[in-house]
Amino acid sequence: MDAVVYQGPHEVAVEEVDEPEIEHPNDVVIDITTTCICGSDLHMYEGRTDAEPGIVFGHENMGIVDEVGEGVSTLEKGDRIVLPFNVACGFCKNCEEGYTGFCTNVNPGFAGGAYGYVAMGPYKGGQAERLRVPYADFNALKLPEGDEHEDSFSLLADIFPTGWHGTELANLQPGESVAIFGAGPVGAMAAYSAHIKGAAEIYIVDRVPSRLDAVEENCDAIPINFEEGDPVEQIIEEHGDEVDKGIDAVGYQAIDPETDPSDDAYDPARENPAIVLNQLIQVVRPTGELGIPGLYVPSDPGAPDEMAAQGRLGIDFGKFFEKGLKCGTGQANVKQYNRYLRDLIIEGRADPSWIVSHRVGLDEAPEMYEAFDNREEGVTKVLLEP
Ligand code: NAD
Ligand code: ZN
Repeated sequence: MDAVVYQGPHEVAVEEVDEPEIEHPNDVVIDITTTCICGSDLHMYEGRTDAEPGIVFGHENMGIVDEVGEGVSTLEKGDRIVLPFNVACGFCKNCEEGYTGFCTNVNPGFAGGAYGYVAMGPYKGGQAERLRVPYADFNALKLPEGDEHEDSFSLLADIFPTGWHGTELANLQPGESVAIFGAGPVGAMAAYSAHIKGAAEIYIVDRVPSRLDAVEENCDAIPINFEEGDPVEQIIEEHGDEVDKGIDAVGYQAIDPETDPSDDAYDPARENPAIVLNQLIQVVRPTGELGIPGLYVPSDPGAPDEMAAQGRLGIDFGKFFEKGLKCGTGQANVKQYNRYLRDLIIEGRADPSWIVSHRVGLDEAPEMYEAFDNREEGVTKVLLEP
């Protein structure tokens, strides 16, 4: 079968790989109908991680059940399902409490498992024609038959629940004001979640005009372009005060427009991993709360600079302490939210598909990875249809 295979920094190719098989009685194998490219794939694509060439990408997967392991009791051939990007067992101490992003059984030695992701366990990615799904009874979310809402449902694998998770981590309440950094797919879905939850004011910070425009239009948010001036000052001026809550949907690859005047969007010399965290600490009011779904990486003893080697980011923790802030972090526990978000979609109360800019065949994955990686204007979320 065909799959999107990592070749090395900034290169993927569609190659023939082995078909997945049932490996355990609890598995199913699905035919993929939609699989999405994610900002998280870009950490591997850009060569920032230990991902080895040959890995099949793809943790945002939906499709039709084709083969069913003999221990599976709730799924049948033909069922249409979407899978949380987390691979979880359902019965470890974290899964039992709903923390399926931190399953202790699927990937011993690391907090949590995922499909097609370096360090997240032995699970192949779904940017392919077929996928093996472990612990299938627990992980699969059933969808109505047919092909209605295909784009929206595919976003239940990651970015809609992850954006929602950002608002939960920040404990966002109706009537509150919130500053969301990053108008990529995750930040956009955090803004959409804040809108659904009844936030009074939503500020969205980025530098890509089409991304800011899309969030302004669909979430009634106030766009803040961080290349037009300090975003903290812009928000405080507009709002008249610090905001109640903050969300970091950028992560450690945050661009610092001050560090290098060159126009090269992703020159690592321009990056400043703590810039957004420090701006959130500034812009959220004392005793406010921060949600951090944006990804940060643990210390790397092999890193060339001492700060990265020790996992230190240069966070102004003294200010954080002075303001008595609270903060939640980590992988989204997709299963905590996906059933409810599915039902909002089915009942017509949510339609996150506005974030989708492209639906293309698997063969177009190499061009689309490049365009999404460059944050090209108008490339917001790319869905692949094998
Ligand atoms: P993305 O990379 O497309 O979005 C990031 C956005 O941040 C871009 O639009 C970029 O222009 C903007 N940005 C860069 N520097 C900025 C700055 N200083 N201030 C404000 N905005 C800035 O990717 P995405 O798919 O939206 O993912 C965002 C982050 O969320 C990534 O780190 C990804 O790995 C992470 N993620 C986490 C989870 C989770 O479960 N916690 C799930 C999915 C993705
Ligand atoms: Zn993802």
